[in-house]
Amino acid sequence: MPQVLRRQTPQAEPDHSDTGAVPTDAGTNRRALFCHKCASPTTLNIGVYKQLNNDFISDNILFSKIFMSHHNVTLNIDTAGVIPTQYDEERRKFTKVETVADLCDVLKELKARGVFPPAAGTLPALFIPFGAQLRGSSAEAVGWHIPNINSLCEAHVGKLDVSRVVLIDSSDDVKSCSKVLLHEIGHAVGCPDGPDSPMIMGPCDPSSVQKPPLTCDADRTHNLMVAKDVKKFCAGSFA
Ligand SMILES: [Zn+2]
Repeated sequence: MPQVLRRQTPQAEPDHSDTGAVPTDAGTNRRALFCHKCASPTTLNIGVYKQLNNDFISDNILFSKIFMSHHNVTLNIDTAGVIPTQYDEERRKFTKVETVADLCDVLKELKARGVFPPAAGTLPALFIPFGAQLRGSSAEAVGWHIPNINSLCEAHVGKLDVSRVVLIDSSDDVKSCSKVLLHEIGHAVGCPDGPDSPMIMGPCDPSSVQKPPLTCDADRTHNLMVAKDVKKFCAGSFA
């Protein structure tokens, strides 16, 4: 069922929405478009599962929090659990999650440890190395929003009591971006993919600026989110 899965890829994909384009018309109010703030403060809770700590994970968490703070959204991102690792002695690296069934096994193990699903109203976000099979047709996928993990996993491991998870590829051999976690949270609140890599909801461009913006500067040309997408966060909940 790959069509139900939203992936973030570094390649431009065909897109039928109008949310991603950077307007070039003179007179466009870029501040209203790119620096929209929720009318009232909004808080969303994210529970992170990881195998280890590294700069990629902390950069993604920091980027998400700082970026959304400029839009009146507080992202509470806390560690919810440690993902069990399997070390491949022969290849001298951690085994990747190769299939959906592998992923379901990981979630089942987290459930058995009592840490999954996270507290009510919290989005589970897993930093986990993807294998080629899980990437499937999207060979360059670096993140994945799965809105129906329960129905994907039920046949393998029974009910998981959660529907939505996001995955972020934490393989150290994959060139990726600091915005992947935020991009996938965006999908979880209902934002569609956009075609342009300068947009948070566009593809990851590892050669672009990876540091979180310190303020909302509507004139910058990278790491932007259109008001339409910010409004999804303002109205978002993971209840
Ligand atoms: Zn995406």
